[in-house]
Amino acid sequence: MKILIKGASFIVTLNKENKIYRDQDLYIENKIIKDIGSNLNYPASEIIYAQNKLILPGLINTHHHLFQTLTRSIKAVKNTPLFDWLQYLYRIWKNITPEVIYISAMLGLSELLLTGCTTSTDMLYIFPKGAKGKKLIDEEIKAAQVLGMRFHPARGSMSRGKSKGGLPPDEIVQNETEILEDSERIIKRYHDKNLYSMCRIALGPCSPFSVTPSLMKETEKLARTYQVRLHTHLAETKDEESYCREIYNQRPFEFLEKHNWLGEDVWLAHAIYLNAKEIKKLAKTKTKVAHCPTSNMRLGSGTAPVSQSRPRSRRERQQ
Ligand SMILES: [Zn+2]
Repeated sequence: MKILIKGASFIVTLNKENKIYRDQDLYIENKIIKDIGSNLNYPASEIIYAQNKLILPGLINTHHHLFQTLTRSIKAVKNTPLFDWLQYLYRIWKNITPEVIYISAMLGLSELLLTGCTTSTDMLYIFPKGAKGKKLIDEEIKAAQVLGMRFHPARGSMSRGKSKGGLPPDEIVQNETEILEDSERIIKRYHDKNLYSMCRIALGPCSPFSVTPSLMKETEKLARTYQVRLHTHLAETKDEESYCREIYNQRPFEFLEKHNWLGEDVWLAHAIYLNAKEIKKLAKTKTKVAHCPTSNMRLGSGTAPVSQSRPRSRRERQQ
């Protein structure tokens, strides 16, 4: 693949120096930008004329549930809080099939591509009993391959159904052995740790109210054995906090910390209800947060205090 882009009005690098080029060409060879300059002349297989256009790095989406693209506009739950919203939709999601996963991934990933996003994760956490033995996550990986999108799917999981005190119905949770075996299978089959990789797998037990503590522990071990990343929801709502206090006698963050889920290889979705001490620990351990304002605004249940995650400048302190 050799692509020459001619005469771009702006090339915004977003590198450390924030360098911006004006009216320059850019040459790409096999996924790598090889050259930027005036009047470049390479034997390209594709030439794109980019006058009056802007080039910038592809956006990266750090949290998603692609299967939910097919159930976005359901009137009955348009104004409900998270737990009610989930309990209503679990009843629809229990009918998920491989075809649903493929179509929803094609739709969701295409929308992302059309808005400038070239790398996305996903967390697929519904594996209904009816789809037992079916390779669901493989379908979304196939969709990303067809679209040519860089994809880092998290193999989501839920092991604590209603009968064990969890939120989801038992029909859509799996036992730990099934989850861990499938997680290992997809790591071996798809995870590519090389530079410029188009697919990397992460492991993602869904949330404190839908997993068993031993699944958190075993998933952590498995991920670190294979050096893949860990992803989960944390501190998204006050209801989650109440649940954790009642069931585990811990704050959501304490639940996470207890299972060794802090580190550079972990990223958390939401992280809204954290106290100052917990934020400090996130920074110290370089644990990452996926800030999800759109989802937070829909729920009206708060947004992450992202500005508190870095030391305030002297100017900010004086204000
Ligand atoms: Zn989520």
